[in-house]
Amino acid sequence: MYQVINPATGELVAEYPDATDAEISDAVDRSHRAYLSWRETPIAERARLVKRAAEIFAERTDELAAIITREMGKRIDESKGELQTVVSIFTYYAENGPTLAGDETLAIQGGNAVIQKRPIGSLIGIMPWNYPYYQVARFAAPNLVLGNTIILKHARNCPESAAAIESVLHDAGIPADAYINVYASASQIASMLADPRVQGVSLTGSERAGSAVAMEAGRNLKKVVLELGGSDPLVLLDSSDLDKTVEVAVAARMGNNGQACNAPKRMIVMDDIYDEFVKKLTGQMSAFEPGDPADPSTTLAPLSSQAAADELVEQIADAVAKGATLHTGGTHIDGPGAYVAPAVLTGVTKDMHAYYGELFGPAVVVYRAASEEEAIELANDTVYGLGSGVFSADPERARRVGERIDAGMVYINAAGGSQADLPFGGIKRSGVGRELGALGMEEFMNKKIVRL
Ligand code: NAP
Repeated sequence: MYQVINPATGELVAEYPDATDAEISDAVDRSHRAYLSWRETPIAERARLVKRAAEIFAERTDELAAIITREMGKRIDESKGELQTVVSIFTYYAENGPTLAGDETLAIQGGNAVIQKRPIGSLIGIMPWNYPYYQVARFAAPNLVLGNTIILKHARNCPESAAAIESVLHDAGIPADAYINVYASASQIASMLADPRVQGVSLTGSERAGSAVAMEAGRNLKKVVLELGGSDPLVLLDSSDLDKTVEVAVAARMGNNGQACNAPKRMIVMDDIYDEFVKKLTGQMSAFEPGDPADPSTTLAPLSSQAAADELVEQIADAVAKGATLHTGGTHIDGPGAYVAPAVLTGVTKDMHAYYGELFGPAVVVYRAASEEEAIELANDTVYGLGSGVFSADPERARRVGERIDAGMVYINAAGGSQADLPFGGIKRSGVGRELGALGMEEFMNKKIVRL
């Protein structure tokens, strides 16, 4: 069952049954048939329809934003902000996709060749609830322009935003079978991946889901893109304005109430500014006020579900029980809803979940580093490798340290974030492949070589 449970109140809003096996098999059939004609539609026409989708996302911002605020509790201004990003992604691929998919000539020994950039077929997208529109946008927009077709399985708690995306795309004129939303189960995903007409799968979500889907994809020799978890380090080497730096760090950590894969979950601070940093950070993390996420004046939203709130509180309690110091928050907030008071932890050691695990909510772990060398070592002591941020008043120093961080992305004097033309993705257990920018469009592309 796909269910909407408002995490601000705990109220069950709506339920949608899982697709039947017959519906899933029909979806694969329709998606493949749509591919055969969609790939023949001129790319300029595909781009025009994707541009129209961008316009409709912009026109319907208020209505679409309200859906995700109800489904997963995002603060309403952040929901609207997410839609702006979605509009920019659809616009970016509509305007640049045809060039990104243009032929490339290769001068080779003894002659020439051309790389033709072609679609590969029907793809499955499996997406999480944390940015319900954005996660789909960064997979769907480039692939629709390229000429692939999509079957989309969204998170169980996001059935209404999932259906709303499908409506926007169809209203834009994209053929109904070129983008199909399904309320599928894990076993139905496995059966679709076994179908020879399906050519690949892109999953954003947890390591557990990523590895389960990658196993099915591997068994069937299907291309896979995985955007998984992260425990990004923010390395603070020095600061000419510590108040400002703390403000930037808190904004990056607390965006989407801490439920972002690339939020700075670990802050590694040089010895000489550590005490002051922890004090200022604790002050700012204590200042959030819980409220209705649909009210624009609220600063602290609920987590996406009661289970997510319970899990975070347990992980923090585990650290405290094993000797960590909790400077603020870390407990449930009284009253209905999945609210957790923002937490600051120090003294976290390797035997605690908070050291190697991912705290997916409003919680920061701060580490003290005696030297650059130790800061780099701490930053890299993780199973993940998504993003990272290095802060210093001397950007050259920050770049030098950033060079040594094992991650898919490093931001200099910034943290988190994502934009349409900047590739996004990680290494190690954070995933495989890239989304966004030119690299994102290449993942499900047949780079067909024509030897002249
Ligand atoms: P999740 O439980 O892994 O769910 C993500 C999606 O995978 C959902 O649609 C889920 O469907 C589906 N799924 C789960 N198990 C599956 C299986 N065996 N076969 C097919 N589909 C399956 O993720 P989450 O906990 O909701 O999301 C948070 C995680 O996502 C965090 O780890 C976060 O860091 C990561 N994330 C990564 C990025 C990135 O770009 N790297 C971005 C955002 C989030 P159901 O809802 O039906 O279970």
